[in-house]
Amino acid sequence: MRQRATRDQQRLDSGAITSPKDLENLQREIVSLAKRQGDLEDIVLEVMERRESVQERVAELTERVSSVQAKADAATARRDAAEQELDSEAASVTKEREVVAGSVPADLLKLYEKLRAQQGGVGAARLFQRRCEGCQLELNITELNEVRAAAPDTVLRCENCRRILVRTSESGL
Ligand SMILES: [Zn+2]
Repeated sequence: MRQRATRDQQRLDSGAITSPKDLENLQREIVSLAKRQGDLEDIVLEVMERRESVQERVAELTERVSSVQAKADAATARRDAAEQELDSEAASVTKEREVVAGSVPADLLKLYEKLRAQQGGVGAARLFQRRCEGCQLELNITELNEVRAAAPDTVLRCENCRRILVRTSESGL
């Protein structure tokens, strides 16, 4: 378009066009071309401004994505570390349990496993201050007397929940 305007201007300046009507047409075209050029320049400017604002937004979003990604990476690392810790703890607890289970007589271990399966994972409970910690019920006087009379190696059972009762110094006997 700019070339066309220049060409028109050259033709006008050359003096080759002598007809007043042609001259008038040419001048009108030059004016119209100049106006269109101005309009197009405005559009280009607007597009450039929009492109700049889009680029800013892209940069902003890219930054947010990296920040979220960094947080996700950190959380994943923490989760992996916690998993590793739990695995190692589980291994150590399993080993400890094996050692303890190995020292328990077979028939008592069998009873314990049976009760554990029946009683939601707790087969034995501590007798604490005259109370069975398995079912939380306090033993009555008759039960307490039976416990008191029992030999230290007697396997005691809670009359209420049937779990194995474990005596300690804090049993309240
Ligand atoms: Zn009980």
